[in-house]
Amino acid sequence: MGIDVNIESSIESNIESCALIFDIKRDCSEDGPGIRTTVFFKGCPLSCLWCQNPEGKKKQTELSYNASLCHPDQCGTPCLAICPEKSLSLVQGKIEIDRETCTACNKCSNVCPTGALEAAGYWITLKELMYRLMIDKPFYESSGGGITLSGGEVTQQMAFVHQLLKALKAEGVHTAIETSGFFNYRRFSELMLPWLDLIYFDLKLIDDAASRQYTGQSNRLILDNFSRLVEAAQVPVIPRIPLIPGITTTEENLRGIADFLASHDIDAATLLPYNPLWSDKAVNLGITPKYQRITFMTPSEINRCVTSFHTSQSGKKGVSHAN
Ligand code: SF4
Ligand code: SF4
Repeated sequence: MGIDVNIESSIESNIESCALIFDIKRDCSEDGPGIRTTVFFKGCPLSCLWCQNPEGKKKQTELSYNASLCHPDQCGTPCLAICPEKSLSLVQGKIEIDRETCTACNKCSNVCPTGALEAAGYWITLKELMYRLMIDKPFYESSGGGITLSGGEVTQQMAFVHQLLKALKAEGVHTAIETSGFFNYRRFSELMLPWLDLIYFDLKLIDDAASRQYTGQSNRLILDNFSRLVEAAQVPVIPRIPLIPGITTTEENLRGIADFLASHDIDAATLLPYNPLWSDKAVNLGITPKYQRITFMTPSEINRCVTSFHTSQSGKKGVSHAN
């Protein structure tokens, strides 16, 4: 049986005609078929220790600071002068941000000539977003591509996404989402599912205690939503397993997920090898990374994960991995 809980962000009830996003990436080939544009929404109910997009976590705009781009001896420090909260100071040749008083107004990033200070997140109207997405429509059509909605967690802004998906389908554009699976199923099936062509569904941890420990949330809703979607969806639901060394890569976890998939007669999954490049982004946002691994996975580590799937009780999983 399904579990329906009210978990959507209050953002959507405030400004349904605007979305809070942190990036629009054109010419993405790894987020679905063909040439695609991916929109990254802000706000996520999970708190994965290894979060690859830490700028997608908070449901508010933020200020990012990349010290390696900062040259106060050359720029005249306009950021210091413009900050209304006096949240910035110059310490040993670099800027320090008092994040307690910073309101993320981003006046400073607007005057920073080097891009050291940058806004992480901005509001965008449906009209403006559609305009930017449709620029590449000829490429979507010629390549079999389209739009992928990602995050953060895209279902946190469901009312806006509902309008966006309808607008995209009116233009005949292929639509995909990447989701953590932590959403209200009833609302998802009403507001999003009918306008989706493809769903990438993350399965991270099969053990509930481990899920609570490493993602901050129980996996019950996620697994339940996956089961309901597989049964109801008329479009492909592709399970993806992020490989986080020492956390999701244990034999027990991978075999458990493989068996869970086998119980749904699913014969394919995608493994996503760990990418360590997220930690700099976290530091730039003033976040101390809680998961420490600064190297990519080796081929033998990845092969061990694939083997764990193949030696699951079901013993018949088809597994691919993306680099
Ligand atoms: S974002 Fe606004 S409040 Fe924060 S440091 Fe910059 S100017 Fe000051
Ligand atoms: S953050 Fe930007 S504006 Fe401020 S000192 Fe550094 S380079 Fe200059």
